[in-house]
Amino acid sequence: MSPMLLALPAHAAHIVVDTGHTVQRPGATGASGRVEYLYNLDVSNLVAADLRAAGDRVTQVAADGAEIDLGKRARTAPGADFFVSIHHDSMQQKYIDAGRQREFAGFSIFVSERNPNYEKSLRCARAIGEQLLAAGEKPSLYHAEPIAGENRPLIDRRLGVHRFDGLAVLKTAPMAAVLVEVGVIVNPDEERRLARPDTYKPLAQAIARGAHACQKL
Ligand SMILES: [Zn+2]
Repeated sequence: MSPMLLALPAHAAHIVVDTGHTVQRPGATGASGRVEYLYNLDVSNLVAADLRAAGDRVTQVAADGAEIDLGKRARTAPGADFFVSIHHDSMQQKYIDAGRQREFAGFSIFVSERNPNYEKSLRCARAIGEQLLAAGEKPSLYHAEPIAGENRPLIDRRLGVHRFDGLAVLKTAPMAAVLVEVGVIVNPDEERRLARPDTYKPLAQAIARGAHACQKL
């Protein structure tokens, strides 16, 4: 064993941090016009840095802005122990049209039962949810609303963990995988809060802590 390996904590893991979307297809648009990809990039860069500081090996996906297929994201490092995808949320268009943006706020976490390591995925989703709660964040629960386009079974209401079996990055990942919607940028109040480093730094740290902690269980 090399001295470097000996120096790592026993539970050091190889974790893939995925920045949701790309420059060309940037995902949701915040109330201010700033696109989701840029919010995802801020948070995922910090999550990666925090994990490295904790001794984990990190592979970042889509942080360079280049186009990458959903199915290829989790296969960038197929031998990794865990995959976490960072996103920011929108809402159904009908709520935007009705001017109800301010009613939607908070984080949500998704796992897929079609992932080959569903048990660990769920354990990590819960660990991340616990850390987000501890950081003062609140879960959004509207993805469980029984309407077309939502209807995602809520596995853990307190921690905001939902099942979304068809999510491409989760079901194609060969390792345990979780997708985090950090907050709702279509809500102008929440967007302003999420744009501040004193909000997104602790938020990123919470995601990293949860992702790191669930590797050793
Ligand atoms: Zn997204």
